Amino acid sequence: MTLKEFEAEYFFHSYQRLPIEITHGERVYLFTKDGMKYLDMFGGLAVNALGYGNPKILEAITEQSKKFIHLSNFYLQEPQIRLAELLVRHSGYWKVFFSNSGTEAIEGAIKIARKWGKSKGKSEIISFTKGFHGRTLGAPYNDIYSLKSSVSEKTTAIVLEFIQGEAGIIQSSQEFVSELKRLKDKFDFLIIADEIQSGLGRTGKLFSFQHYKNISPDIVVVAKALGGGLPLGAILGNSSVAGVIQPGDHGSTFGGNPVACAAGVVVLNEIVEGGIMKNAEQMGSILKSELTKLKSEFPSLIKDVRGMGLMLGLELSRECDSIVTSLRERGVLINCTNKNILRFLPPLIINQDHIRFAIDQLRIVFKSL
Ligand SMILES: *Cc1c(COP(=O)(O)O)cnc(C)c1O
Repeated sequence: MTLKEFEAEYFFHSYQRLPIEITHGERVYLFTKDGMKYLDMFGGLAVNALGYGNPKILEAITEQSKKFIHLSNFYLQEPQIRLAELLVRHSGYWKVFFSNSGTEAIEGAIKIARKWGKSKGKSEIISFTKGFHGRTLGAPYNDIYSLKSSVSEKTTAIVLEFIQGEAGIIQSSQEFVSELKRLKDKFDFLIIADEIQSGLGRTGKLFSFQHYKNISPDIVVVAKALGGGLPLGAILGNSSVAGVIQPGDHGSTFGGNPVACAAGVVVLNEIVEGGIMKNAEQMGSILKSELTKLKSEFPSLIKDVRGMGLMLGLELSRECDSIVTSLRERGVLINCTNKNILRFLPPLIINQDHIRFAIDQLRIVFKSL
């Protein structure tokens, strides 16, 4: 049986798999069984920030695995402590809780917020339409009127992505963020920043909210890139929530797995001190300006170029599925989100040659339409 047949036989049909069989990865490239080499502009959907086969990650994982792969959270474990210390030092936040995934970290953040709000008689959590963590009360994103009419004394917290990923790389406006801050001061609620996709250097800063003036979320949630490919998420909290969680309030069996945390230490060091975040900023600005040039060459096809750092989107006037297929045939893997938005989330280690190759292939495919 082919892999496709195996899947049809054994799996719940939850994913639309791509029709290639990957054998291995190397830096920004993925290789397949049939000998193809692909430039990965997909980056494991923002997980593979340091690309594939990073020797420092491999070494950290190997060394930690020899000591112990798992300990229960009844024990203190050095990799967790080292990673928590790095996160606190680089972010300025006070406290850390480790989870296995983004969703769990968001759930934990909401749990912290609920507990914080309970004593103040608050009970409502607000998230935004198309936000990807989303549930609970929804308000339209970037709509100041909708925000104002959703918020009240009852509001416990507002959860948001300052740059929405799945929705198609949509940035908050500064006006919206300023209004959020004004309402926070008036009604005393928490702001939870979902930095799962946009955090850890992806936009050229540690967190995407740092691109905005005068805003400092109380809770920040990260995941995706944190574990260097291993499942790991974290909740970071400032002084207002530092004392909320008491023993027994929250926990996780696998959260803060030592091998994942050992990889996380490498990831954070490389991003902040190893120049990766700087590279994301520089390469992001080159990629964005190249995409903007493409927009002027193909004005009826490309409606918008947006995003920050290496979290960029190209909004097309048509659906992008067939474009994704043509690009794949030309050696470039890219994601299409929300039907007509090509999303760029490459490993943060890409260089100008990779960008040039991607742009050349985009141009060829666009010309052929
Ligand atoms: C991926 C993602 C999540 C969910 O994370 P999982 O690790 O898949 O649970 C939540 N929010 C954002 C913004 C994401 O990109």
